[in-house]
Amino acid sequence: MQPIHTQEKNITDRYDAIVIGSGPGGEGAAMKLAKAGKQVAVADDLPQVGGNCTHRGTIPSKALRQTIQLLEESGNYRGANFPAMLRSAESVIAQQVQLRSSFYERNLVDILQGRATFIDANTIEVTSAEGVKHRHMADTFVLATGARPYHPSDIDFTHPRILDSDSVLGLTTHPRSIAIYGAGVVGCEYASMFRGLRIKVDLVNMRDRLLSYLDDEIIDALSYHLSVNGVLIRHNEEYERVEATNNGVTLYLKSGKKIHSDYLLWAQGRTGNSDDMGLEELGIERDSRGNIKVNENYQTAQSHIYAVGDVIGFPSLASAAYDQGRFAATHIVTGKSEVKLVQQIPTGIYTIPEISSLGHTEKELTAKKIPYEVGHSYFRSLARAQITGRTTGMLKILFHRESLEILGIHCFGSQASEIIHIGQAIMAQKGEANTLMYFVNTTFNYPTMAEAYRVAALNGLNRVQ
Ligand SMILES: Cc1cc2nc3c(=O)[nH]c(=O)nc-3n(C[C@H](O)[C@H](O)[C@H](O)COP(=O)(O)OP(=O)(O)OC[C@H]3O[C@@H](n4cnc5c(N)ncnc54)[C@H](O)[C@@H]3O)c2cc1C
Repeated sequence: MQPIHTQEKNITDRYDAIVIGSGPGGEGAAMKLAKAGKQVAVADDLPQVGGNCTHRGTIPSKALRQTIQLLEESGNYRGANFPAMLRSAESVIAQQVQLRSSFYERNLVDILQGRATFIDANTIEVTSAEGVKHRHMADTFVLATGARPYHPSDIDFTHPRILDSDSVLGLTTHPRSIAIYGAGVVGCEYASMFRGLRIKVDLVNMRDRLLSYLDDEIIDALSYHLSVNGVLIRHNEEYERVEATNNGVTLYLKSGKKIHSDYLLWAQGRTGNSDDMGLEELGIERDSRGNIKVNENYQTAQSHIYAVGDVIGFPSLASAAYDQGRFAATHIVTGKSEVKLVQQIPTGIYTIPEISSLGHTEKELTAKKIPYEVGHSYFRSLARAQITGRTTGMLKILFHRESLEILGIHCFGSQASEIIHIGQAIMAQKGEANTLMYFVNTTFNYPTMAEAYRVAALNGLNRVQ
């Protein structure tokens, strides 16, 4: 892989802006600042650019998922081997690093390799892996340091049988069984992947439903498909203690249950990387999960120090982090940021099958007493789905029964995270242009998955006529 490129260069000690973290948030900020003519440096403690997104989160997990899905579709599980599958992600990571390194090179952004801490409000110290320290000054800073898996203090994460979403990527044996504690997005995605390899999976959920912010019908579909595929979901459970030996892990639950498995994957949320950076001394506030407090322009209590991405918490998505980075940089350059992150960000959940949602759920609309109607399209009835053999899934459109304004779109099944964007484009239109009638009056390519919109729109209209 291509090494970080600026180590041999004569690094300037003073910059217009220093970005800490080269994930999507940091990259979005650095590119915008550099293109505006600022002299910019990016500090990162990983040996290569791309952040956790490229090295530990989005990219490796999605590359792994793709390999597992292909294996599932082939139906040939004889070669199923988790560590071998993990290697499939390496080439994608390498391509991403090369591409992202070229952005920094082309835009003359220096890379400061090492861990950054603040010495004072305009100076950081970067400590390399070898312990060499360099100080750098800047007028403004963007903190894009991301987050790491949350570790409760009573669990021994140094034990090789106890994994989190980072260390699972270093697994060197193929588990026969795994317990996953935490049924959020990461927990559900890994449950689908392990089960896709025919590994025995126990998914332990602290709540009474999976991903309860989703539309009920989607939650039901997800629960059904995970269960039918063999994932044992245990709702309303809380751990009491964990015991790990050389041979496996036992998860003791407060309900009295004991789950024994080869490995335990802890997936109980994330902690912002904001500790030991000298932020307290600067009066920059953080909450108990390490999330930095910012205003609507992503400024911290020190107005020249901005924070974006996972380190400010919700929505903790790569997509949002990149935009937040750009918006913060725009504010640095122009003193204002008129563009804001759209209120309604689509949810993309890469379970197998995948999920994507935008806007209101039925539950929310009912609670708000908004008169809505629903239109469905089932993938099994679409020619394209029949041709590809991916017939599990549905698209559901929620719309106002009088104005026909689209209020919510929920999709479950192959390509859901792509399909959602067609509806998003219409839903984002102002006033009467956001209408279900777009899908009725538009000719769609045939056969396509996009056709699901026309089918769902006609299905919905039949209910209001
Ligand atoms: C398993 C998993 C799957 C995911 N899948 C998706 C998905 O499908 N879609 C999606 O949109 N999002 C997904 N996410 C979330 C996504 O990865 C994050 O939202 C995104 O990485 C956040 O970007 P960021 O720029 O805030 O920081 P990060 O990508 O976290 O990068 C921060 C960088 O800063 C470095 N750093 C931290 N502290 C310092 C310091 N003091 N000095 C120097 N460097 C420092 C870190 O080492 C890291 O390189 C997933 C996350 C996980 C864990």
